[in-house]
Amino acid sequence: MHWRIGTRGSKLAMAQAEAVRARLAKAYPEDSFEIVPVKTRGDRVLDRPIEEIGDSALFTRELECALAEGRVDVAVHSMKDLPADCASGLVLAKAWRREDPRDALVCRQGRATIAELPEGAVVATGSVRRTALLRRRRPDLEIVGIRGNVDTRLRKLFEPAECEPRLDALILAAAGLKRLGRDELISEYLDPEWMIPAPNQGQIAIELRAEDAERRSKVDALGDDDAEAVACAERAFLKATGADCHRAVGAIASVADGRLRLRAVDGTTSDDVRFMDREAGTVTLVGAGPGDPGLITVKGLEAIRSADAIVYDRLASDDLLKEAKEGCELIYVGKESGNHTLPQDEINALLLREAVMHDKVVRLKGGDPFVFGRGGEEMEYLASRYIPCDVIPGVTSAVAAAESANIPVTHRGVASGFEVVTAHAQGDGGLTDDDFARMRDTRRTLVFLMGLARVGEIAERLVAAGRAAATPAAVVGSATTPDARCVVGTLADIAARVAEAKVASPAVLIVGEAVALRARLGFPLSGKRFLVPVIEGGTMSLSERIRRLGGIADEVVVGRIVKIDGAVRESDLDGVDRIVMTSRNGWLGIDERIRAAAEARGIPIEEVHGVKPIGRTLHLTQPDADRVEGVRSIDVYRNEEVSVGREIDLGGYDAALFTCASSVRRIHAVATGATLEAAIGPKTAKALETAGASRIAVAERPTLAALVDIVKGLLT
Ligand code: SAH
Repeated sequence: MHWRIGTRGSKLAMAQAEAVRARLAKAYPEDSFEIVPVKTRGDRVLDRPIEEIGDSALFTRELECALAEGRVDVAVHSMKDLPADCASGLVLAKAWRREDPRDALVCRQGRATIAELPEGAVVATGSVRRTALLRRRRPDLEIVGIRGNVDTRLRKLFEPAECEPRLDALILAAAGLKRLGRDELISEYLDPEWMIPAPNQGQIAIELRAEDAERRSKVDALGDDDAEAVACAERAFLKATGADCHRAVGAIASVADGRLRLRAVDGTTSDDVRFMDREAGTVTLVGAGPGDPGLITVKGLEAIRSADAIVYDRLASDDLLKEAKEGCELIYVGKESGNHTLPQDEINALLLREAVMHDKVVRLKGGDPFVFGRGGEEMEYLASRYIPCDVIPGVTSAVAAAESANIPVTHRGVASGFEVVTAHAQGDGGLTDDDFARMRDTRRTLVFLMGLARVGEIAERLVAAGRAAATPAAVVGSATTPDARCVVGTLADIAARVAEAKVASPAVLIVGEAVALRARLGFPLSGKRFLVPVIEGGTMSLSERIRRLGGIADEVVVGRIVKIDGAVRESDLDGVDRIVMTSRNGWLGIDERIRAAAEARGIPIEEVHGVKPIGRTLHLTQPDADRVEGVRSIDVYRNEEVSVGREIDLGGYDAALFTCASSVRRIHAVATGATLEAAIGPKTAKALETAGASRIAVAERPTLAALVDIVKGLLT
């Protein structure tokens, strides 16, 4: 194999490229090599300070172009010259062991240290960082700018032209002087504790084309774990500061006792630089569960609540993010099939960056982190860079989606085990014909993930491999969320049914006799969808009843219970025998004072179904409620309208259940289509009639149980 090694043409860059060539040649003696110099803009514009040119790819762009266009095979850079991100299609090889990262002092005369330089001495440097840090150390020195390569700078120090200022000393990177064999000129290595080097100083970067797997593995094989960890951490800091050449940014990482430590500085001048010295934080992979925020583990929730940064996917519920503490950084890296927002290696780099900057980083993933979640890859990447990692398991959709549709993935005598399978095609590391041949066993339940687009293909291949076309199959979409959908059929017709029902991703395909069990498990409302208008702050548990019977309850908030302050006064209790309320919300009218007064007078407070004019009764209620003749009533709360804010297609539901007339009006204001509509009592039924509902059912008694019963009777 022949290698064209691209480099800038400066002496130092050529020396670097030669070092790379020599090392590769030694490791791969059968290969041949040539060095190809490429001029960059930074080599051409020499008359202005770098920060004035304001181009972060000044020394690298032309080289990256040559690499991308195939004019060279690898590009050798000083890593500190590389912008925080590679150009697209290009990648950095694993870092090789680095040269001395420190800055060094070179004096015109003698071998002084910074401390020994005379007051007012003139020191030249080209960097904002060195200027700021040196000024803090020795405010009395005169610091001047300088440009040019190492030789030019040394000439300006030792043999200045007539027109050039006289300099007493220079600060340069020790690595460059060493590579040029000029290290005898160094009079002091500056302690990185105060002169924090530029991120990646002394580090060579070898850039390759991402698709050039062979060269990548050859270069990577010469890499060094610690150098890679340190290089990534310093680059992570560079990126986190959004650094450009106008800022004084320095970073030096080290590995000690298996922990990564970073000392860094960021600012613009000696007055405002801020220092940081910390050990990298921990990354915890947390399984968010299948969708319902209630299905995260207690430990997972604790991790979210204490996180300083959360990196999350599309599959993690928004409600969980609301649990994050104030100031927690929330970063979305969601992946949607076919529309990858961030490639995996960028997610890895992002996680590392967050760990460098924060103590506690949570990587929140849908389901369980290790079930097709690439959690293992992320952990591998971080662990090899000395970032402590742990994982909190989650409820995987592979089991929960089936379960939410009342399909037990194992069942004695029916399914002796289950297999969780990627539905990805063979090219993606997915299923081969041999895989399908193994899936013939009828006692196994098969759960396919990531396969909504391939339901038909999978069903066909299973049949071709020998599973009966009549094998029960189900597709469950958005399981455990309000958008949940379940379609049941057989291998022969499941694809057509899924297409007809317009099931949306994410969805799992479940195949096997266990699917048929759902009908036997005593969930009469299984797979049916109900619209349940709810009043926030109210006390209904209608959805719970529906869910217990296997149905899907889609709650739509149409109102909010608002307490009317001070509605009941002590004097209202005069001459009263009992206080009643027809809704638990009535308790909002009873504060400590009224409760004590009622107790003192021996007046009982009761919740009742209907108010009857027995004795002298006080009814605590709300403005909309019916008044009972002969009973005094006081409004203690209001049901205030909350805008639904979208259209509701009743046609998407098996039934809508109403417990009050106001809900009927509010839903019908935004409703299209028609379905069965059930009312808890005559007044609600009347409202349905007025609203033009086409199929109306009324509960036999005004209770939630009776409301669910009437619907159940009509639908099953
Ligand atoms: N780690 C996840 C799976 C990630 S792969 C887990 O353990 O659940 C993404 C696939 O998971 C989707 O393509 C889909 O097949 C499945 N999935 C995730 N959430 C789902 C849900 N709520 N309902 C149905 N399938 C879901």
